[in-house]
Amino acid sequence: MDYPKVILKSGKDQSVRRYHPWIFSGAIKKIIGKVNEGDLVKVTDNKDEFLAIGHYQIGSIAIRIISFEPKEISVDFWRTKLKNAYALRTMLGLTGNEMNNVYRLVHGEGDGLPGLIIDFYNGTAVMQMHSVGMYQHKEYFIEVLKEIYGDALHAVYDKSESTIPEKSNIHAKNQYLYGKPLSQNVVEYGNEFKISWEDGQKTGFFIDQRENRKLVQQYSEDKAVLNVFGYTGGFSVYAMKGGAKLVHSVDSSAKAIDLTNENIALNFDQNNQHEAFAVDAFEFLEAADQKYDLIILDPPAFAKRHNVLHNALQGYKRLNAKAIEKIKPGGILFTFSCSQVVSKENFRKSVFTAAANTGRNVRILHQLTQPADHPVNIYHPEGEYLKGLVVYVE
Ligand code: SAH
Repeated sequence: MDYPKVILKSGKDQSVRRYHPWIFSGAIKKIIGKVNEGDLVKVTDNKDEFLAIGHYQIGSIAIRIISFEPKEISVDFWRTKLKNAYALRTMLGLTGNEMNNVYRLVHGEGDGLPGLIIDFYNGTAVMQMHSVGMYQHKEYFIEVLKEIYGDALHAVYDKSESTIPEKSNIHAKNQYLYGKPLSQNVVEYGNEFKISWEDGQKTGFFIDQRENRKLVQQYSEDKAVLNVFGYTGGFSVYAMKGGAKLVHSVDSSAKAIDLTNENIALNFDQNNQHEAFAVDAFEFLEAADQKYDLIILDPPAFAKRHNVLHNALQGYKRLNAKAIEKIKPGGILFTFSCSQVVSKENFRKSVFTAAANTGRNVRILHQLTQPADHPVNIYHPEGEYLKGLVVYVE
């Protein structure tokens, strides 16, 4: 275990002792040996006591910890981590399930693997590395994925082009690292979706909304439903399944809207009640001349950093107020925020202010979050990023 040593300043070992997986650059007292972006380093306190092993990175987060025990980081190490992640998904009933063959296998910090995301799409594993350290281990991940899945693994696709820090001298390319996909279609709770991991956003699908989509289905019977920021129509398919009498899907991306129409057609022979619009969400809400029984708002992260938090909260208020105005009395709003820097409390306040500004009485029916295949590391509460409220609008 001959890794370069990073010594922390006195007192800065506390968060590591509480198993927080990040070390900020300001906590570092000294580095012994030469380290490059992505290298494995051994972290000690200022009395030379071992604390952790992590990947070094040039930036505000200087180290992402992958082990709190002194261990050799060999293929065995990665094998154990990925097998543990797989065992958890098996316990959740997600693996080997014909009615559901799309799930998140590795959720970064939530699986003790900061910087690594692996999503499983019916035989294709899409890996997204967010650190050079993880990127450099990718061959090991492929080897272990082959062991875990056997013949059930058809392809491994690397989608790290836009997530590897630009300043590093690695020029990641989106590409297949193994095999060829047999199918681009997946099944989620018995619903079929075509997923485009090559051109789509993130790894291709917002798997994190699975349980919330299911809940929309339960509320949709005979409802006029509006799915705003619908991407490839996830919520729309569930609303149709639930017996909605009309579903409108809105997204500014024309590609996403094309896929939405394909996904609706994949699941329903008769789909006259669905219509998709490639337009800006605010413009659509402004211009809509009808009211809906159920509206879903699932916008992209309005704030990626704390310094724009205020603007983001204003954005949520404005958007939610616009949507509430378009809800019939006795209707339902599913509203989400996936911004990590927006807390549950702040988000709830924004929705309440929006309601107050429209003069409507609203009550919370459900408080939603991400599903169990996106686990939250209790020592890394930042990992709880998805917040949702289902409110009844009088
Ligand atoms: N609800 C989706 C995920 C939404 S992701 C699902 O369950 O799969 C956010 C979406 O908002 C993206 O598809 C993006 O294209 C879209 N978007 C971003 N800005 C927008 C805007 N101003 N108007 C409409 N759509 C927008």
